[in-house]
Amino acid sequence: MSIYFDNASTTKPCREAIEAVNRGLSELWGNPSSLHSMGVKAQLAVDEARKIIADSIGCESRCIYFTSGATESSNMAIKGSAMAYGKRKKRIVTSSVEHSSVKESINELEKSGFEVVRISPDKNGIFNPDDFINAVDENTCLVSVMLVNNETGYILPVRKIFSAVKRKFPDVVTHCDCVQGFMKIPVKTRELNADLISLSGHKIHSAKGVGALYIKKGIRLIPVINGGKQENGIRSGTESVPLIMGFGASVKALNPHIEGHYRYVSELKKYLCSRLSELDDITINSNPDASPYIINISVSGIRSEIMLHWLESHEIYVSSGSACSKGAKSGVLDEFGLSQKLADSALRISLDFSDTKEEIDKFIDVLKEGQQKILKSK
Ligand code: PLP
Repeated sequence: MSIYFDNASTTKPCREAIEAVNRGLSELWGNPSSLHSMGVKAQLAVDEARKIIADSIGCESRCIYFTSGATESSNMAIKGSAMAYGKRKKRIVTSSVEHSSVKESINELEKSGFEVVRISPDKNGIFNPDDFINAVDENTCLVSVMLVNNETGYILPVRKIFSAVKRKFPDVVTHCDCVQGFMKIPVKTRELNADLISLSGHKIHSAKGVGALYIKKGIRLIPVINGGKQENGIRSGTESVPLIMGFGASVKALNPHIEGHYRYVSELKKYLCSRLSELDDITINSNPDASPYIINISVSGIRSEIMLHWLESHEIYVSSGSACSKGAKSGVLDEFGLSQKLADSALRISLDFSDTKEEIDKFIDVLKEGQQKILKSK
């Protein structure tokens, strides 16, 4: 039996999503832009999914725009708002621990003349909302801060930051990458005070290749993708009806269980941490208030890749860092204050509500055996 503890990289599609994707492929394969009834049926299916996702974050359907995933959503949000609002206002404020999709989008803007302020956590790895607020001035067009860090599970104080920024400078656009928070902790547009929110399907048991961008009414984006004016002209290209239907189906299936799953996964995390404390030379790098879904640990003296492959040889799957970077170091753990040694031996265990204590027991046994065998062979 394999054990999959890499749910922050991607998740197993749920039955509801698979059934919806199949129905989209086999029955509703018309083009939503067609004027005949096959097109209308496909469009209705897209709009049904749009409403489910809109309801789940507390906004109107027309504020949800489907994309190919959160990477595209964040590119659209950041570049599109900079093009719309950044003619005179040239400052962007962000955190130093963003996912590459946000970080690289902002880096591109920096190359074209934007001034970027990247806020780091303090020496204990804690972000102070005031650091963001103080960095925002009348020259700022955009503030982009993620909700849950994908490598450590750290929950950034987005609500506090965005609310204070909006009070001081109501015209500043706020963007939040909510990928690792969506369907795990509450993500509500009102509470976050976000103008733009990036979401991904495959992190919540849908298919890969689908995501969404929430755009608050009144926020203007210059489209990054031009063409047939689908999605209200903001994201051209024929909509992937099956994947969008699958995305809607998994949100519908998960949304009623967010709290129950959170409680269950919190228990699992507690159990995992107590079992880890029985082993020697393990450091838990995630802070105690982090999302229970992501636990970053270091195994002293053993490089991440070596332990990852040892675990893999026992059909246990974890990540060495951010899966999107194919093992390349992102520098995020250094930002959180980890020494080089700890960062080099870091593993990310990311849980799901379908995981069990028995799986954790097996993981601990294999980890312990790995520690002994790998260190002995050195
Ligand atoms: N943002 C965060 C925090 C992520 O963890 C990821 C994927 O790992 C992404 C964005 C990118 O999402 P997608 O794969 O849908 O482009």
